[in-house]
Amino acid sequence: MSAQPSNGEQAPLLPGGGPSINRDQPVRPSVRAIIYGVLTAIFVVGLVVVSVFWEEVGGIVGSLPKDPEQAAKRILEIAPVIVGAVFVVDGHIDLPILVRERYANNASAFDLEKEMPAHVDIPRLRKGQVGGFFWSTFVECPSDEAVGKEFLNSTWRVRDTLEQIDIARLLIDQYPDTFELALTSRDIKSVISRGKIASLLGVEGGHQLGNSIGVLRQLYLLGVRYVTLTHVCHNVFADSCGMQPGMIPRWNGLSPLGVNLIHEMNRIGMLVDLSHTSDDTARQALQTTKAPVIWSHSSARAVHDVPRNVPDDILAMIGTDAPDQVDAVVMVNFAPFFVADPGNATVQTVADHVDHIADIAGKKHVGLGSDFDGIGDTPKGLEDVSKYPALIAELFRRGWTRFELAGLTGRNLLRVMDGAERVAQELQDLGTEPSYAIYDKRTDIGRRVEL
Ligand SMILES: [Zn+2]
Repeated sequence: MSAQPSNGEQAPLLPGGGPSINRDQPVRPSVRAIIYGVLTAIFVVGLVVVSVFWEEVGGIVGSLPKDPEQAAKRILEIAPVIVGAVFVVDGHIDLPILVRERYANNASAFDLEKEMPAHVDIPRLRKGQVGGFFWSTFVECPSDEAVGKEFLNSTWRVRDTLEQIDIARLLIDQYPDTFELALTSRDIKSVISRGKIASLLGVEGGHQLGNSIGVLRQLYLLGVRYVTLTHVCHNVFADSCGMQPGMIPRWNGLSPLGVNLIHEMNRIGMLVDLSHTSDDTARQALQTTKAPVIWSHSSARAVHDVPRNVPDDILAMIGTDAPDQVDAVVMVNFAPFFVADPGNATVQTVADHVDHIADIAGKKHVGLGSDFDGIGDTPKGLEDVSKYPALIAELFRRGWTRFELAGLTGRNLLRVMDGAERVAQELQDLGTEPSYAIYDKRTDIGRRVEL
């Protein structure tokens, strides 16, 4: 037996008295170092977690600047990082029709990097912290005489729609550091995360489909992701609300072909847009659709009574709580005529529409669809695409939290797009057949005569 005192801590690491490590030094300090190291690492990781979490709850615990303008700026800066891709995503911007009417669709005739004549150009989009928008590929309704009583006369509207899709896509391609085509909600997040403006396409009226569900499918392939069921005219699919009260309905809502159109939109993942439709069309569309829907640019009728705004009983059909409710987002239109009496449209009155829709349908169901470049005048304080932060500031002043504002500016739309994409996938997985429905008054197709 060795006379040497021994204990576990000082025992050689190897038996047999061979060479030992640090035999003469106590082991305790290295263990302590390891413990300290682990504690430090836990502390650092904790700090990181807390800082991220702090950002998440910052809007609730009040870490935002007190000044609403500064707070709005901070919200728009932080939102995309924290909640995933939310700058402003506007449901309706009419740049393509402005380019058609002013520049004959010649993309070399102007420079979007410089100041444009109306409400939209790249410097102002950047200033307004715009992360994405639907480029409306709108062309006007044909006159009643041109299209005929039964909507059977051919017009140039399908050609003109293709030209508008063409100019939108040419412009998106012409400024690759700024714009990128987005086809899904995932694309929107991805484009924004790379510092660009997600560019989506919308078609503003069933009259642009030439009475044909086949045309709908082809527009989807060209990148279009919503179709407004009507513009200011009725068409073979549905009734419009027109521009003034008293529009006489043609179908009392959806036509039989319109029901088929919605089924096909659901199947392929084309968003159903109910702006411009009559109330009966909107109600029936909500009862028909299997997917969430949008109003790409409509405000609240209870705040300002014009047919283009959404009435409360229809707002009450929107939601995710009751089984008969439909998920949707109503994207508030800034057009002064829809917002307030002449001369009274301001950023505050637009905020009133946002608040009212939020009160009836819920804050998860409201968004922004300015109609910039498609409207002659603008509300005071919301003169162009650089001014969205003024509206965010106004709503922040009224008590909207950072998360609610992130929903308003884009996240609500992303949720609805996710829903429509999911429904389309489910219908396709079930093997749902494409719609072969044809407008029954057409005589130019498929009327085989047995000999
Ligand atoms: Zn419109």
